[in-house]
Amino acid sequence: MRVARGLILTSVLVLLGAACAGSDETTPSPSPSPQATPIARPSEPTAPAPPTPAGSDQPTDPAPGALVIVNGTLIDGTGADPLPDAYVVVRKDRILEVGSGSPQIPPDAAVVDAEAGTILPGLIDAHTHSARGLIEPGDLRVELDGFVPWLREGVTTLRDVGTVPLLFPAILELAAELEHKHKAPRIVWSGPIVTATGGYPTTVLDYAAVAQEVASAEEAVELVDELADGGARIIKLGLERGYRSDEGWPLLSLDEVTAITQAAHQRGLLVTAHVTSLDEVRLALDGGADDLAHTPIEPLPDEMIREMLQRGITMATTTNIWGPESSVAATNAKRYLDAGGTVAVATDFDCCGQAPGMEAMLQEMQWLSQVAGFTAMELIVAATRNGAIVSNLANELGTIEPGKVADIIVVEGDPLLNLQALVSTSIVIQAGTVVVGGR
Ligand SMILES: [Zn+2]
Repeated sequence: MRVARGLILTSVLVLLGAACAGSDETTPSPSPSPQATPIARPSEPTAPAPPTPAGSDQPTDPAPGALVIVNGTLIDGTGADPLPDAYVVVRKDRILEVGSGSPQIPPDAAVVDAEAGTILPGLIDAHTHSARGLIEPGDLRVELDGFVPWLREGVTTLRDVGTVPLLFPAILELAAELEHKHKAPRIVWSGPIVTATGGYPTTVLDYAAVAQEVASAEEAVELVDELADGGARIIKLGLERGYRSDEGWPLLSLDEVTAITQAAHQRGLLVTAHVTSLDEVRLALDGGADDLAHTPIEPLPDEMIREMLQRGITMATTTNIWGPESSVAATNAKRYLDAGGTVAVATDFDCCGQAPGMEAMLQEMQWLSQVAGFTAMELIVAATRNGAIVSNLANELGTIEPGKVADIIVVEGDPLLNLQALVSTSIVIQAGTVVVGGR
């Protein structure tokens, strides 16, 4: 099937290229898709300094000078109390200094006025299938524009845990190009979902294309190396016997899971496991996985919570997608958090009709708040610092601290009083470049 593979890939690349070339470089417009959210779109991007050269149609990349954000309340993503009258100094793509009061503004700096809003790290969605739509029939232009709302609404990083393997290299390259043009968030990729022959998600019509089956530990290790070479930072395992019941779907063996996690760790990758039931969690734990890509939909026993804590397992929420089991999942997430576990906000976009962007995050966060009693501060930390931890970028992203990448947003109002404030993004800074607001 070599010829067919080549043909498919070439045609998709041509189509994607055409879609890119056809898009308006000057004004990354919100998606015209019917999925468009009712959120008021932030204003067009402006470059802080130096002024955009005449004829340039891109936001200016990190200026040689500094950027100083002033006049906001800082919620830095660590869980620390908000810092009133805060400033953040950025140089190139990094945060240089954070403080309160009047900053020393370097002579070469551009000043961005937060206008008494709240300064936050860019949000991170820890479970998406952001590119799945790219291979579905329809208007590719619309699908590509689907990346835009995430960034422009302040979700500056996505952890993508399931992409069509055949298209992974092309999609990764395309997304990197869009990110470089400030038309997409940073995307941390797993590539396909690694599974047993005939295992989940080959069993589910909508997701079968994102599966990559392995028949032995050796084959699995080879695949991990291939994915690592291809740019994956996470390995995603599909461990599911059946939706809400044991339907006999084959699982990877313990030896295979163990071999995969060992190979991944040798390459510096984290392993996240799709699980729904407790025996699948058992397999993930015994095989050395680092993260649960979903919060289980069966009540977690205290003993299992203790074991997960001891092993430093992290968990992505995706709690409001399970129908009747959604409240069990949300309660599990809160119990794990309260026990000291690391929990990251995650939507599983676009499994369940979510629109791209902040609205999907807000929906999940409101569910966690209403059903399980997450505080607004817990949710913000889960959507920033903890998202970076599960994305294998703990040292780079997720908090506003000196040395971190300057992915910073400003929202109007106070999300600690009302989470809804998160959809009123007024400024987005991506790796030191102002892409929304900042006038
Ligand atoms: Zn998923």
